[in-house]
Amino acid sequence: MPELPEVEVLRRDLEREVVGKKVKAVDVDGMRTVRRHHNRKQFTARLLDRKITAVERKGKYLLVQLDGDDVLVVHLGMSGQLLRAKTSRETTAKHTHVVITFTQGGQLRFVDPRTFGEMFVAPYDEIEQQVDDLAHLGLDPLETALSWDLFGRMLAEKKTKLKPLLMDQKFIAGIGNIYSDEILWGAGLRWDRMSDSLTSEEVRRLYRSMMETLQEAVKHRGSSLADEQYVDLFGRPGEFQQFHNVYAREGEACPRCRHAIVRERYAGRSTYYCPACQV
Ligand SMILES: [Zn+2]
Repeated sequence: MPELPEVEVLRRDLEREVVGKKVKAVDVDGMRTVRRHHNRKQFTARLLDRKITAVERKGKYLLVQLDGDDVLVVHLGMSGQLLRAKTSRETTAKHTHVVITFTQGGQLRFVDPRTFGEMFVAPYDEIEQQVDDLAHLGLDPLETALSWDLFGRMLAEKKTKLKPLLMDQKFIAGIGNIYSDEILWGAGLRWDRMSDSLTSEEVRRLYRSMMETLQEAVKHRGSSLADEQYVDLFGRPGEFQQFHNVYAREGEACPRCRHAIVRERYAGRSTYYCPACQV
């Protein structure tokens, strides 16, 4: 599932590739992707002849701003991909649900095999009413200047296990299963340490690890796992999985202390950590 770094990579690609382009045609296959709309026509009509002016990211959501008051909101869900096609003649991938064609040529395509992803158009000031997640989004670690002492107070107030807290979108926006494990390894902290038990030194390490892990992941264009569901706007997988220290590395030696990485199940998901040097 794409997390903050993957969505940020897409945002930067989109900013370069589609800002300034005008929508000439929109094709929608089925209602699943545009399920917030009454019908396909209602979605299509709001995009036609609109020009893309900017691309923003809020947590794991992409906000493609249109001239006028509307914004095209895109959430990739589990398996969504946004792909740029240079011409309309390029082969259309299986599970392509939305195709946006630009007057300047080329297309933006939304491919989503598992269809948990979605797209909708709404006035910018109404998107929080439409999506509860957007209304209650926590701090964005790449966007907001957050001091480590404020971060420490936020952690202390929560009194909960670190991994689910890092993944709580209302606390910090954009972190999911992969990056929470990598951030906690970087900080030398166990996934189930209580957030109010950290020393100020540990708070600092966690803060630094969060910033560094996310920035490095964006630099290496996100993580694509074995399923290769995440690809960038040009269909290329990310490279940060090569730098994962614990995620999906059960049984391998910890890069810091050589102890074997373990996997534990928590809330229906896998958690990877080093039982020796994460405390
Ligand atoms: Zn270790």
